[in-house]
Amino acid sequence: MKQTPKSELLKQLDIITDKARSLIGKGKVADYIPALAKVVPDQFALALCDLDGNVYTSGDANKAFSIQSISKLFSLVQAVNIYGEDLWQGLGREPSGQRFNSLVQLESENGVPRNPFINAGALLVCDRLESRCSAPNFQLLELLKSLSENTKLRVDHEVARSEMEHGSRNAAMAYLMKAFGNFHNPVEKVLESYAHHCAIEMSCIDLAKAALFLANQGQTLNGREILSALETKRVNALLSTCGLYDEAGEFAFKVGLPGKSGVGGGIVAIYPGHYSICVWSPELNVAGNSLAGFYALELLADTLGLSVYL
Ligand code: GLN
Repeated sequence: MKQTPKSELLKQLDIITDKARSLIGKGKVADYIPALAKVVPDQFALALCDLDGNVYTSGDANKAFSIQSISKLFSLVQAVNIYGEDLWQGLGREPSGQRFNSLVQLESENGVPRNPFINAGALLVCDRLESRCSAPNFQLLELLKSLSENTKLRVDHEVARSEMEHGSRNAAMAYLMKAFGNFHNPVEKVLESYAHHCAIEMSCIDLAKAALFLANQGQTLNGREILSALETKRVNALLSTCGLYDEAGEFAFKVGLPGKSGVGGGIVAIYPGHYSICVWSPELNVAGNSLAGFYALELLADTLGLSVYL
């Protein structure tokens, strides 16, 4: 990695923001629910945290957006904490090569989701949390509040409601897993919890801060262990192979960092030992990942020489 002085780093982030913004207008805001379809498309933000506690930003980095599937990263962290190795009974660790909400493999692979970052896998994680947590929704929000040091984080209830009203594919996945004996709680209850996780609103600054422990062997900057070093390595590996659905290969090729995207237009990326990063721009590419966000991470990785493959 190139050593970049702070003022130079901020300048670079602004240049990257300008370049990435040129893609705005070429993607499409998620429109599967009305509450997301009305998001103003012309927005971009970037935040980068380092292990000295510095936060560097560019664009609308304080603007909260729907974290959507980025929640899958944090619900996995909760489930790893509770279940340890047992979590992997009935849950795979392979990239799917399919869209995030595909049902195809789930039938042919006996109700075992490929990984925790596609919808089927995240629903299974929520099912497991439902079995062991008294209030799974509340607990995820509390974890995110403490990691981001932002007590004001909230769920957008309109998004959550809309998510449940238009959640037929997710319901189909959950029932299919149930039919294979790999889902233990009432489907409606788990769907509600999943929808609430997706509907949490956070800014790029909040998300970059919340994910910083993944760049720091599982520890927050004040020494709280969120995951062990081994668990952190494994979560980062899963982010690298599965975090961007059927675009995970392209993301590894062009960016080279563990990452997790959401249809709200956010992408979190980790440079282990150095940085956590969050970019946001609501317009998506065909794979359901932020178009300008993906490009910004590619530029950032190239400019600063960041990659886990170097
Ligand atoms: N709420 C979305 C869904 O379940 C999350 C998907 C995503 O962000 N890729 O379809």
